[in-house]
Amino acid sequence: MKEPLPERFDDLGLIEPIARAVREEGYERPTPIQARAIPHLLQGRDLLGLAQTGTGKTAAFALPILQRLVTPTPPALRGPRPIRVLILTPTRELASQIADSFDTYGKHLHVRTVVIFGGVGMEPQKQALRAGMDVLVATPGRLLDLAGQGFLHLPHLEVFVLDEADRMLDMGFIHDVRRVIRLLPVKKQSLFFSATMPPEAQALADQLLKDPVRVAVAPVSSTAEKVDQELAYVDKADKRALLLELLRDVGMRKVLVFSRTKHGANKVADHLDEHGVGAAAIHGNKSQSARERALADFKAGKIRVLVATDIAARGIDIDEITHVVNFDLPEVPEQYVHRIGRTARAGASGYAVSFCEADERELLQAIEKLIRMQIPVLEGHPFEDRAPPPLRPGERVAMSPQAQMQARRDERRRAEQANRDRRGGGHARRDEPRRDEPRHADPRHGEPRRDPAAVARPAPAPSAPRPAPRPGDAPRPDGAGGGGRRRRRR
Ligand code: AMP
Repeated sequence: MKEPLPERFDDLGLIEPIARAVREEGYERPTPIQARAIPHLLQGRDLLGLAQTGTGKTAAFALPILQRLVTPTPPALRGPRPIRVLILTPTRELASQIADSFDTYGKHLHVRTVVIFGGVGMEPQKQALRAGMDVLVATPGRLLDLAGQGFLHLPHLEVFVLDEADRMLDMGFIHDVRRVIRLLPVKKQSLFFSATMPPEAQALADQLLKDPVRVAVAPVSSTAEKVDQELAYVDKADKRALLLELLRDVGMRKVLVFSRTKHGANKVADHLDEHGVGAAAIHGNKSQSARERALADFKAGKIRVLVATDIAARGIDIDEITHVVNFDLPEVPEQYVHRIGRTARAGASGYAVSFCEADERELLQAIEKLIRMQIPVLEGHPFEDRAPPPLRPGERVAMSPQAQMQARRDERRRAEQANRDRRGGGHARRDEPRRDEPRHADPRHGEPRRDPAAVARPAPAPSAPRPAPRPGDAPRPDGAGGGGRRRRRR
C-alpha cells in the first residue's frame, strides 16, 4: 500500500532552523512536489522531477540540500570553502531567483551561495570563486568560461541540480550541459528537473541519474485557468489613474498590486493614499516591522491595497485576496502565474487584471505562450485613446532610444571583434555576452541583486509568436472582474 504524503512541513524531517525559515516565509503546508521529493532527497536519492517553475520545486530541492550542508566538510579541507552544490539553470533570472531562495530558506544557517551568469563583468565572479562558497548557482556559458580559465574546481561536489532541462535543450545548451557534467565527480547526488521529457532530455537524465525517484506534478499553467484574467492596454503615464478608476469598483476589497520596482511600488501606494484609497507598499527596502504592519493592516481590512514587488510578495499567504493587479508585467513569464495564483485560493474564484504598456507587449506574448491562452482585453476604459495597440503576430516592440544606442554600440563592438578575429589577431573577448546572455541591458531599473556577482537586471524574456487560440480560450460571458467592463477579443 502507498504511504500517505506528508501534509505538514513538520512531517518532512527538516531540522528546526530550516523549518523555522519556511514558517517565516508563511508557507503552511508543503506543495505536492515538496511532499513527495523532500523525504527521498534527505536520504540522498537521485531525483527525476517533472515539474515547472511555480510548483514549489525550488524549495523541494533547496531545503534538503541546505540540510545536507549543515554537516561540515571534513576538517582536512582548510582554505576557501569548496563548492559542495552546483545548480545549473538556463537563464540569469532563474539563477538569481534560486540563489535568493537559498538565502531565504538558509537564513538561520551559515551557508554561502554565489550566483554567476553572463552579460556582467567577470571580475567579481572570479573573486567570489576564489573566496569559496557552499552553493554555486550558474548558467552554463559563463560557468564553462570560468572553468576554462581555471577559476572553477569541483572535486568536492556533493550535489548537482540540473534545472529546467528541456528549456536548456530548447536554448541550444545541450553541448554546454554535457561539458559541465564532464567536470563533475562521478560520485554525487544528482537531481534533474524538466517540465517536459523529450527524448533528448530523457537521454540526458539516463546519463546522469542512478536509480532515481520519479516525481511528476501538474503543470503550473493549469493554475492560471482558475483565475479570471483581463488585460488593459494602457499608456505608461495613465497606469496610476487607471488603477484608481478600477478601484471605484467596491468589489475590489483586498487587492494585491504588483510593481516591478521598489520605487514604483512606493509611488503607486502614495498615489492611492493621496486619493483616499488605503494602501501600503512592501518591498526589500522596508523594515521587517513596517512590512509586518502593512501585512497585518491588509489582512485586517484596514487598507484595501497592498503594493508589492515580486520578491516581497513571496510567501504572502492571504486567502481572501479578491484581485491581483499587475501594474507592471513580470519579466519572467512564470512569475505571472505565481502572481495571479495569489487570488483564487482555496477554490474561490479569483480575478487578475494586467496593465500592458507599449514596451511590455513582448512580455505579454511570452506570458500568453506559457499559459496557452490569450488574455481577454478590457475595453472601454477611460484611457483607451492613448493606449498602445496590440502587437500583430510576429511584430516586435520598437526599442527605446537607450536600447537602440546600446544595440549600435554592441554592433560596432562585434564588427571590430570580427575584424580582429579575421586578422587572426586575438582571442574572443571573454566578457562578450554568450548565447545565454541577452546583449542589451534593460534600461528599466529594478531591485538590486543580492550578490555582487550579479549586478545587471535580467533582460525581458524572449518573445514568442502568438499561439492560435484554443477552443477553451473564449472570455467568460459574465464579464466578471475589473468591475464588469466590456471586453473585446484581439
Ligand atoms: P517555485 O516553483 O520554486 O518557483 O515556487 C513558486 C512560488 O511558490 C515561490 O514564490 C515560492 O515562494 C512559493 N512557495 C514554494 N513553496 C511554497 C509552499 N509550501 N507554500 C506556499 N508557497 C510556496
